[in-house]
Amino acid sequence: MPKSHGTIAIEAERCKGCDLCVHFCPPQVLRLGAQRNTLNHRVVELFDEPRCTGCEICAKVCPDMAIVAVYREVAS
Ligand code: SF4
Ligand code: SF4
Repeated sequence: MPKSHGTIAIEAERCKGCDLCVHFCPPQVLRLGAQRNTLNHRVVELFDEPRCTGCEICAKVCPDMAIVAVYREVAS
């Protein structure tokens, strides 16, 4: 079965640290990090990139479109 690997690009200034994407990420590879943006919101981070599948769910559930890109590669 092909395995897919992904990564994401986060626009820190758009993130309000709502945690929604953290809960929806199937492999649970997102968390709120220590970094804060200029609005003092904690910014989400991808802490276990090798396990990101590039499923795009985080980008789809984010109300603020803070996950601006999802990259995915499929290796057979
Ligand atoms: S693309 Fe999918 S696996 Fe990767 S961080 Fe987003 S929800 Fe999680
Ligand atoms: S990236 Fe979007 S869904 Fe995730 S914590 Fe930030 S604002 Fe919320």
